[in-house]
Amino acid sequence: MPDLVCSVCGQPADRTIKTRCFCERHFLSATHERKHTWRGYTLLIFGLIVFVGLVYFLDSAIKPVLTGSALLWAGVLMALVPAAIWMIFFYLQDRIEPEPKGFLLAVFLLGALLAAAVGSPLLENVFHISKWLYADTAATILGSILVVGFTQEFLKYAAVRYSVYRSSEFDEATDGVIYATAAGLGYATILNIQFVISNGGVALGSSVIRMAVVALAQASFAAITGYFLGRAKFEHEPLWWMPLGLTLAATANGLFNWLRGRVVQSGISLTSASTNPWMGLVLATVVAVLTTGFIIWLVRRDIHSALAEK
Ligand SMILES: [Zn+2]
Repeated sequence: MPDLVCSVCGQPADRTIKTRCFCERHFLSATHERKHTWRGYTLLIFGLIVFVGLVYFLDSAIKPVLTGSALLWAGVLMALVPAAIWMIFFYLQDRIEPEPKGFLLAVFLLGALLAAAVGSPLLENVFHISKWLYADTAATILGSILVVGFTQEFLKYAAVRYSVYRSSEFDEATDGVIYATAAGLGYATILNIQFVISNGGVALGSSVIRMAVVALAQASFAAITGYFLGRAKFEHEPLWWMPLGLTLAATANGLFNWLRGRVVQSGISLTSASTNPWMGLVLATVVAVLTTGFIIWLVRRDIHSALAEK
């Protein structure tokens, strides 16, 4: 009979979840529901809405006259806020439930690096998406899912899978979701910074809405992949498990991109073209709340079934 070893730390194991073995300590962590994770999502969503409201209000009340590099830096600073809200939350709750911040920051930076070095160059210079993505509805939906969605979600997945995933710090049921969200926010931060730079600075009031939308969306879709990653680490999943997770995340990503375009431009009529960026924020908030709620439900269900099994 082979020795049973913990699939996290390799120590002798005396507990199992389905077909995976765990030592006592890692059985407890694998079935631990980190309540603060969900508080982190609530805070991120709520914090972003407050942030958007604040910048929008200040912008229209003060009408700051920023030009040149001041405008550029203000935009870049704003792009960093969504990730900062998320990170500050984890630093503040450190006393209650320590989470290795080094890894959280590393995964965030890796997500950002992959977006800047691989994702954006690939989509722009190899796939040339700006030339055809919005040509017609079919191109938008298929291209947003198969090209943009898969590229972005795969890179966020890679940022977690080839870093912290292999480490013994990845030992809790919710870790996949937490680290994937960090990667998603890293990706979003680069998209937002690139948006600011390519426009040579941006109107603060209207672009803050766009930034919050990008952050909420990229974090939500990454969380889907994160759930699949967490399950893959703690349970033996079939070969199609991760591809399924990535396909779901890429499909959600692509459909969102198409739908956002539709709702933002819903004000278009024959005589006047007006866009309403607020509709995009409403959509992103709804998507983030629904995705988070669904993932919370899934993780809880997994924990209950693991505990019921022993
Ligand atoms: Zn162990």
